Order: sequence, then structure tokens, then C-alpha cells
Amino acid sequence: MKVAVIGAGTMGSGIAQTFAQCDEVETVYLCDIKEEFAEGGLGKVKKNLDKLVSKGKMDQAKADSIIAKFKTGLNTIAVDPDLVVEAALEVMDIKKNCFKDLEENIVKNPNCIFASNTSSLSITEIGAGLKTPVIGMHFFNPAPVMKLIEVIKGANTPDETVEKVEEIARKLGKTPVRVQESAGFVANRILIPMINEGIFVYSEGVADIEGVDNAMKLGCNHPMGPLELGDYIGLDIVLAIMNVLYTETADSKYRPAPLLKKMVRAGHLGVKSGRGFYDYSQGFKNKVPVDKKN
Ligand code: NAD
Repeated sequence: MKVAVIGAGTMGSGIAQTFAQCDEVETVYLCDIKEEFAEGGLGKVKKNLDKLVSKGKMDQAKADSIIAKFKTGLNTIAVDPDLVVEAALEVMDIKKNCFKDLEENIVKNPNCIFASNTSSLSITEIGAGLKTPVIGMHFFNPAPVMKLIEVIKGANTPDETVEKVEEIARKLGKTPVRVQESAGFVANRILIPMINEGIFVYSEGVADIEGVDNAMKLGCNHPMGPLELGDYIGLDIVLAIMNVLYTETADSKYRPAPLLKKMVRAGHLGVKSGRGFYDYSQGFKNKVPVDKKN
């Protein structure tokens, strides 16, 4: 199987690694709007594999064979994939244009499956106007580790495509959960409003950053608190999902916290920008809550 991953950021690089680790995958095209971004995505994969090798969880020959499956570059290299997984920004027009360009100008394989890793957008709308039906294939971060893939059926997604994608998910060692199209699907519909509520709680001065996170870790057995998890996902992604939940439902319970909007406007996006609710300048493990930094 040949797989094209469109977008080589946090998710795209992890998704590409997941596919490359699967024995049935022979080629992974990792694409982005600039060649250096695609190269950067491959760099992240190499770093992850180096870690596995140094911990004795993978031998060097296996890591080399995984890297050898990669071809990186612009979207135009994805000529003959059996599956496209789009992991570009969470913006409807970007996703629609990506698939339109792939269908009209790039992908030549008539049986290619078009999948989007969108966290919250309508699969039906992403696929509107295309001949090829679109399906949601929603990985979780970090993609090589997390076991869940939500498989989302849009209004025009054939059952056969759903079954094929579920089968592919199982081949990757993941568990597919079939989801009907609905804002935020299942996991994010529950998770992201919780993170947003954590931001409200902190911004109202109810507790400091570590207090909010510790309450949920120690009191509710969550592995990460809502603020550190928001940083990890990317606060821009959290805001984008809240905006979709809010506009799709017009329900005020989904209004984004003003502090979340302010932080995204300031470019404080979390781990990927080096600062969110925590400062990551000393590395992820040594992160410092920004309300404790002098
Ligand atoms: P990111 O910002 O880390 O990466 C996005 C990448 O897409 C960037 O490298 C950007 O240059 C590239 N890109 C933008 N336009 C493009 C185009 N037209 N063609 C090719 N590449 C393009 O974002 P991310 O966190 O990896 O999120 C990507 C998608 O995955 C979003 O839809 C997001 O909602 C979804 N998602 C994110 C998470 C998460 O935890 N971050 C989890 C599941 C799903």
C-alpha cells in the first residue's frame, strides 16, 4: 500500500510514522507546502525512531527500513497513493482546496481513498464537490502511540470505504471506533470543552495553573491536567475545535474562554511554540507554569 500524508506537522509526521511502521505499507509520501516543512516532518520521525533504538525497543535495521519508505516534498509528489490522509491546518478552505487539487491535478489512482484527520470539521463539507468520497480518519496525538482512530462517515461516504478504512486501522494496530458525523465527533466533543473549562477556572483565579492540572490528575486520575493537555494538543487546535462546536450548535456552553483566544492571538500555542500555560524553554520535562515564572 502507498500512503500520502498531506501536512507534515505534529499529526502528519506521527501519522506518517505509524504507516511506515506497518509491514503492508511500502511507500509513505510526506508532503507539505514547502519542501523543508516536509523534511522537518521526516526529521521528527527520525528522532522518534532514534529514541526507540536507544531504549532497545527497535533495532537499527528496522528503523532504517522504516525511514527508507519515505519520500518527502510538495503535495505534487503524491501521484499514485492508495490512500491519502490529509493532516493540514484545521481550516475548511485549506482542506477543501487540498483535496480538490489532489483530485484534479495530482492523484492518478481512481481507487484512491481520501481521508481527513480533521478534529472537528464536517466530512460532508470537506468532500462537497469532489468525485472521490471523503472519510474521516481521526488519529490521536501522539499518533504512533495512541490506539484510537475515529472513523467518520460523511453523508456521501460509502459503507465499503468505511469498512476498508476500519480494516486499515486494524492493520496499523489501532482500534477503530465508527462515528456518525457530528461536531467534535466523540472524543473531542467531551475532551475539548473540559480543557476550555479548565482555562475558565484558571482565568477566574479559582486555582493556579498547577492547581487546575493537579486537581484533575490527582482527583480524577487523568494522566495530564487540562492546561498541560491543551498545551500538548496546541491551543490553536483547541480554539479551532471550540469554535466549530460553538458555531455548529449555537449553544453558549461551547463558547471559547477569552483567555484561550488571547493566548492564540499572542502566538502562545503550547509545546509547539515553546510557551502556553507552561514555558518549555528548558524542555518538555522541565516545563514551568507561566504564572510561577518571574
Ligand atoms: P500543525 O500546525 O502541527 O501542522 C499542520 C501542517 O500542515 C503544517 O506543517 C503546515 O505547513 C501544513 N499545511 C498547511 N496547509 C497545507 C497544504 N495546503 N498542503 C499541505 N500541507 C499544508 O497541525 P497539527 O496539530 O498537525 O494538526 C493537523 C490536523 O490534524 C488538523 O486538522 C488538526 O485539527 C488535526 N488533529 C490535531 C491533533 C492534535 O493533537 N494536534 C489531533 C488530531 C487531529
